[in-house]
Amino acid sequence: MPSDVLIIGAGPSGLFAAAELARHGVDARLIEREAGPHREARATAIQPGTLEILDSVGALPPFLDAAEHVRCARLYGPGMAELGAMSHHPGGQPLRRVPCGPRRRQALSRRSAS
Ligand SMILES: Cc1cc2nc3c(=O)[nH]c(=O)nc-3n(C[C@H](O)[C@H](O)[C@H](O)COP(=O)(O)OP(=O)(O)OC[C@H]3O[C@@H](n4cnc5c(N)ncnc54)[C@H](O)[C@@H]3O)c2cc1C
Repeated sequence: MPSDVLIIGAGPSGLFAAAELARHGVDARLIEREAGPHREARATAIQPGTLEILDSVGALPPFLDAAEHVRCARLYGPGMAELGAMSHHPGGQPLRRVPCGPRRRQALSRRSAS
């Protein structure tokens, strides 16, 4: 069946675009060259900017429900030399660590289904 929009790639960008288009009643077709999901953790920490985008479309709660709040992080190099530190921005979303794989996919699936 023909669609108004073709989205190439079922990564986070493509899935988000597909969910948003569906939410606004636009018929889209999503294609992916890989036969199945990769098995790597590629978003152990979800950045504050990403959380703000999810919040802007009302999709944040399931991610927060599945997440641990990271208040600060320190980065160490060879010899335990401290390379830097991060803490959450007071005016924005704090950094969140989301458990890998299944729970994040469930949050995205619930969003796509709603
Ligand atoms: C090891 C690793 C760890 C990471 N950790 C984090 C993290 O902790 N926090 C974080 O925020 N980000 C992390 N990232 C980055 C994050 O994974 C990317 O920013 C995110 O995946 C980008 O999403 P995307 O949809 O733009 O692209 P991609 O995830 O690359 O998705 C693109 C999709 O398009 C498909 N595709 C490409 N070309 C075609 C084609 N011609 N036809 C059909 N399909 C096609 C690909 O197969 C792929 O599935 C990590 C990345 C890696 C590799």
